[in-house]
Amino acid sequence: MKTCVTLHQEELPRAWYNALSDLDRPLDPPLDPRTGEPIAPEALAALFPRACLEQEVATDRFIPIPEPVQEAYRRWRPTPLRRAVALERALGTPARIYFKYEGGSPTGSHKANTALAQAYYNRVEGTRRLATETGAGQWGSALAFACATFGLRCTVYMVRTSYEGKPYRRALIRLFGAEIFPSPSDRTAAGRAVLERDPGSPGSLGIAISEAVEEALRGDGTKYALGSVLNHVLLHQTVIGLEAIRELELAGDWPDVVVGCVGGGSNFAGLAFPFFGEARAGRRPLPRLLAVEPTACPSLTRGEYRYDFGDTARTTPLLKMHTLGADFVPPPLHAGGLRYHGMAPIVSRLVADGAVEAVAYDQADVFSSALLFARTEGIVPAPETAHAVHAAVELARRCAADGEEKVILIGFSGHGHFDMAAYEAALSGALQGVA
Ligand SMILES: *Cc1c(COP(=O)(O)O)cnc(C)c1O
Repeated sequence: MKTCVTLHQEELPRAWYNALSDLDRPLDPPLDPRTGEPIAPEALAALFPRACLEQEVATDRFIPIPEPVQEAYRRWRPTPLRRAVALERALGTPARIYFKYEGGSPTGSHKANTALAQAYYNRVEGTRRLATETGAGQWGSALAFACATFGLRCTVYMVRTSYEGKPYRRALIRLFGAEIFPSPSDRTAAGRAVLERDPGSPGSLGIAISEAVEEALRGDGTKYALGSVLNHVLLHQTVIGLEAIRELELAGDWPDVVVGCVGGGSNFAGLAFPFFGEARAGRRPLPRLLAVEPTACPSLTRGEYRYDFGDTARTTPLLKMHTLGADFVPPPLHAGGLRYHGMAPIVSRLVADGAVEAVAYDQADVFSSALLFARTEGIVPAPETAHAVHAAVELARRCAADGEEKVILIGFSGHGHFDMAAYEAALSGALQGVA
């Protein structure tokens, strides 16, 4: 029985898998809010590098990973696929539970996979600085690290609740050389507008995106980088699933269910889409693909599938997605990375078509499974990741009740070493349900 499988360095995937190539019909295009007409990718050239805009609409099945990005990946990739044997025993389940561990990246989550690609393309195209938002700080630290790798400056707007609640993520962002501001801030018109209405605003990703976009549009060699939602971001994350497929083959297993947490949808897509591609190519059966979100920010299970803005100030193009409304401000939640009102358009489409299922859990239940995972497997899940862990634990418990030998694969998006305040709350019983 193999309990840990990792590919050799030379087996690192050389191309990303593009799920756009396998959709039944093209994605509904982003719309210009002023005209209601589809927006041409070139119209976003002030914000994103050309390479990423091309990837946004590309229909090639595979897109080569540039050699310098592969080299940067090789510092910690391929990542291990582990089997959670001790967790299985503790649950008394006949299910086999695997997890693809993305916590070993330099900043502790999957976000480095796209941060490095985006920083590289910007560098090649002459960008001098990247502006971005960050929720819990994982994206901000990944982008700060990527900018340091490829020699770009970096400005981060961090959602205020996390800026105050996660001082060490804040420090990590500065350690990698980026400047960082709590959002809403008084540095931008978007931030000032929110502060005027609500001086005590906890902030949200939607607000922080507005601020970072405004910063990028000042036209001083600055562009904008988004850590999730967009097609090119999901594309860059598919390195996770491509590795996992080959590692499962080495383990001699194949999942019945693939589970991942969803904020904007990128780590889930990165793991799940290559399995979707294998099924489309007729090589393998399609596993159940299960997206897990918090009940406090339930865009897939409670949102509407329609066109909406990506940010609160309503400056972005309209995206067809599951949304709780662009001005929805989710309650403060330990899984800061899951506090986004919208969802990646490709994930939304696959949910609407029934290829992806969604479920929502309350953070109090989520943390009890996270503690069980940490105590059995010795790895502390990020609060976001803990949602996927909890869904897997629930599935495995059902297998125990029914005597079913299902194979469950968890997208383990990151470790929770910067989230000890949340774990202390869980341990002292102070953690509230927020639904
Ligand atoms: C950001 C983050 C998420 C949520 O973002 P997605 O784009 O949905 O993946 C989940 N887990 C971790 C560890 C994160 O840092």
